[in-house]
Amino acid sequence: MSGDHFYCLDFRGEIAPANGYEREGITGYVYAAQQPGTVPIFRWYNPANGDHFYTADPSGELAPQSYTYEGIGWYMFKDRNVNSVPLYRWYNPNNGDHFYTTDATGELAPQSGYRSEGITGYLHPNPSPPSVPLYRWYNSGLFRNFTFTGIDPTQKATLFERHSWAYYRAGICGNLSQPEKDRVRQAYRKPIVHSVATDPNINASAFINGQSIAINFTNLFPLGDDEIAQTLLHEMMHCAGYTHPRRIDPPAANADVPYDGGKYYGTPPLRAELCIAGEQSDAGTIRLMLAPQTDATTRACPVVNDGDEGD
Ligand SMILES: [Zn+2]
Repeated sequence: MSGDHFYCLDFRGEIAPANGYEREGITGYVYAAQQPGTVPIFRWYNPANGDHFYTADPSGELAPQSYTYEGIGWYMFKDRNVNSVPLYRWYNPNNGDHFYTTDATGELAPQSGYRSEGITGYLHPNPSPPSVPLYRWYNSGLFRNFTFTGIDPTQKATLFERHSWAYYRAGICGNLSQPEKDRVRQAYRKPIVHSVATDPNINASAFINGQSIAINFTNLFPLGDDEIAQTLLHEMMHCAGYTHPRRIDPPAANADVPYDGGKYYGTPPLRAELCIAGEQSDAGTIRLMLAPQTDATTRACPVVNDGDEGD
């Protein structure tokens, strides 16, 4: 372990995805506003080493010298009660990271140089309305090699956030084999160039085993969050080296049908789509273009132009 652990109530992780953080799931359930028995957890940030620090102490313990106060992170129980578990705090003196977990043994913390710093408070291990999820992020330098050409800051932020969701879902997906999961997640470390596709017939395209994704924002973004994540993961599967045959559309007797697990929908890029929301986009009306092309940049990789993506 190295790098910063970050905790927030925002599902999208605030600016975490755009700064090399990967999603690590839900630590537990806390409160966005004061509830009986709860106390505010104050959030501090050290710009020198990138560490986020959370404490129930209003004065920030020893934080103020090097840390900047960032407001109340969440509310949690001060004392243990029914349906609550401790949130343990660990600290790594080597990189200055504070790490919080409900695991009494600290997960991998002890063997990674962290030392125990006690209990910060108590939270629900399971959803318990009106509690809300406390999302955990980790700065592992994910997406560090991603670049963007001709893409505006808002689109870029959405791509980072949707990529982070796709990366996380791929890691826990039952529709991919372990080697497939490993391979696509490794592809996220590649220098992937993002550019704008203008072909009205496609939503996105990528090169098999390549390092580029072209996105038709006009087509794709109105389709919504799940579709964006499905498409990005599908294209990242291409960047990881996986391909699929040309889709056969109705009225052909042997037309491919979503969820048929067949020659088209059973391939890794299409199975990966299921990781996001359990859906495979149907054939739709956008024409799939699979004419072989050469990469203008590398002149090496075959291109797959994915029509109605996650098609
Ligand atoms: Zn494809």
